[in-house]
Amino acid sequence: FYDVDLPKLSNDELGELATSIRTLSNDLSRVKRERNEFLASVSHEMGTPLTYLIGYAKVAQRTELDDAERFNYLSIIEEEAERLKTLVKNLMDLAQMDEMTFSVSRSEFSSTGFVRDIVQLVQPAFDMKGISLFTETGDDFTLVADRMRLEQIILNLLDNALHYSESGTTVTVRAFQNKKQAVLQVQDNGCGIPVDNQQEIFEKLYRVEKSRSRSFGGAGLGLAIVKELTEAHGGTIDVQSEPGHGSTFTIRL
Ligand code: ADP
Repeated sequence: FYDVDLPKLSNDELGELATSIRTLSNDLSRVKRERNEFLASVSHEMGTPLTYLIGYAKVAQRTELDDAERFNYLSIIEEEAERLKTLVKNLMDLAQMDEMTFSVSRSEFSSTGFVRDIVQLVQPAFDMKGISLFTETGDDFTLVADRMRLEQIILNLLDNALHYSESGTTVTVRAFQNKKQAVLQVQDNGCGIPVDNQQEIFEKLYRVEKSRSRSFGGAGLGLAIVKELTEAHGGTIDVQSEPGHGSTFTIRL
């Protein structure tokens, strides 16, 4: 039974094999650790709105409340439930992308039409916060991408630009061609991102200032989704930012 012809390994090869096994086992431990950290963060992100939901649902049942007070508690319940719904949707999106069951269905469409449609969609939110939204589209060109996914990318970036900017500032959406590449940019004059955090913001559940972002309702999944969607298109994303001066996110396809 043991008399099989195993290939003879030289000392060098044995050494290489040992190194490979060690690397593999280190990788496995890292993946395990990351998975546990991720699960802990997700549980925390879900636990907080659930605690509010239960608490406010109990308060809303009190008989002595007047209509206005009850309405107020029910609004908070709705808000927290929406937050949970978004979180679950984002997690499912990410899981799908990780599983590779996710496919990009490309079509051809006009760059100016694409930007115009998106701006139309978000304009009311910018008006409400008193932030001017500009577009710089130059000559029209043909974008070849999954339109819905590309919309999701730019809407996420615009959502962040809106949240991390003060009223009275400006946000600009650009679409132009550089050599053979389609370039899409979202620029804001908001709070900016410290250099040390500029790579980490693309990681799942990462937020620069946990408490500040929390009040905006983000779970730190938006940019992770944007990055995965961009890469699924074979594209790249980068950020240029200076604290206090704003940020520019650039997608190249
Ligand atoms: P969130 O839902 O918390 O906004 P994201 O993944 O979209 O999650 O962003 C991760 C973090 O990156 C944010 O919590 C915030 O700290 C930072 N960030 C993202 N976009 C901007 C921006 N335009 N200006 C300043 N900070 C930003």
